[in-house]
Amino acid sequence: MDRANVVIIGGGVVGCAIARAASAKWKDVLLLEQMPKLGMGASSRNSGVIHSGLYYTPGSLKAKLCVRGNRLTYEFCAAHGVPHRNTGKLVVATSREQEATLAELMERGRANGVTGLRIVDAAAVRAREPHIAATAAIEVPSTGIVASEELVKAYARIAAEQGADIVLHAKVEKLEAAGGAVRVKSSAGEIEARCLVNSAGLFADDVAGLLGSEMAKHKIYPVRGEYCELVRGRTDLVRGLVYPLPHPEGLSLGVHLTKTLYGGVLVGPTAHYIADKNDYESNRPPVEDFVRMAQPMLPEIRAEDLRPSYTGIRAKLAPPGSHHPSDFIIERDKQFPNVVQLIGLESPALTSAGAIAEMVEGLIGEVLG
Ligand SMILES: Cc1cc2nc3c(=O)[nH]c(=O)nc-3n(C[C@H](O)[C@H](O)[C@H](O)COP(=O)(O)OP(=O)(O)OC[C@H]3O[C@@H](n4cnc5c(N)ncnc54)[C@H](O)[C@@H]3O)c2cc1C
Repeated sequence: MDRANVVIIGGGVVGCAIARAASAKWKDVLLLEQMPKLGMGASSRNSGVIHSGLYYTPGSLKAKLCVRGNRLTYEFCAAHGVPHRNTGKLVVATSREQEATLAELMERGRANGVTGLRIVDAAAVRAREPHIAATAAIEVPSTGIVASEELVKAYARIAAEQGADIVLHAKVEKLEAAGGAVRVKSSAGEIEARCLVNSAGLFADDVAGLLGSEMAKHKIYPVRGEYCELVRGRTDLVRGLVYPLPHPEGLSLGVHLTKTLYGGVLVGPTAHYIADKNDYESNRPPVEDFVRMAQPMLPEIRAEDLRPSYTGIRAKLAPPGSHHPSDFIIERDKQFPNVVQLIGLESPALTSAGAIAEMVEGLIGEVLG
């Protein structure tokens, strides 16, 4: 194949979901991933939570695609044997002052179409989570957890069964617009794309830059999140998913407690801007920082209960010091209309991937006619 209908750059959960949707409709779909395996970026370094859509600005892409993506993810996982569980979650207030924010958050969720939300009192929280200290909480029944790497593999497997070509070790290094198509040069070879989809996650701004697109001005600021986990013998401290109130300026959802599908408990992620998109390790905060962040919700937690775990890097569009949460950018490039750009796909893009793929399928359809 030296000409493809669709070339997708990036084999994370979003690129693989797009490959599945596109290959159901068109022949000659190619996905290029630079790493030796799919999903090695943010798609396997996250909390694995199927979010409800509670947090996001009403009317935003994040709100719409998360609420729809939540339902699509459950349906997809059930149909294709991807390990998942509809656990529900609690967002807790740990003081009377925080309760007003809790009520506002619930209203926002309702405006986004999240169903089943209700405020419960301290006794109800204790009945569900005996070690959690809270004055009240929002109960969010549609939240769940998913094995994110398995989700990536399942999208990719179906794409391949439908005829998509998935090429690993294929770093896209050069892009040239040429007469209604884009010439894509990667470490695996060259191909002409009738429609190009930039789904390069943390590197989507750099890929837009390869094309000379003005959309490269949407700079991605890497924000690292570290996790710890509770040691064996202390995992009973948490039964489900427990979140604090989110960061007021949208930096993160706050260090939360996540019971995983396999019985462990994650504590994290932290959120801090870093200089280098490839830096997963330097200057990790000590476990004492996690104790300090989790203790308002979980007073019994001690440093010896924790051991460091993995890290992930968010693809943030909001620069350091910004007071506004950003939205996903998903659109056809105005300068290069046969290119679909996806930039700033931070959380909740794991949850939203199925809904993002539906939207991108529509945009690819406009390009291919
Ligand atoms: C700490 C953390 C916790 C999170 N928790 C959740 C959660 O609980 N629920 C939720 O819904 N979301 C969560 N998210 C967000 C979610 O993980 C991401 O939004 C999602 O995984 C993004 O998927 P992606 O496919 O866009 O990006 P990625 O998974 O980063 O994939 C992009 C791919 O593009 C490839 N690539 C880049 N450049 C090139 C190139 N030039 N050539 C070829 N390939 C290239 C990369 O190697 C990579 O594999 C979390 C994120 C983080 C960091």
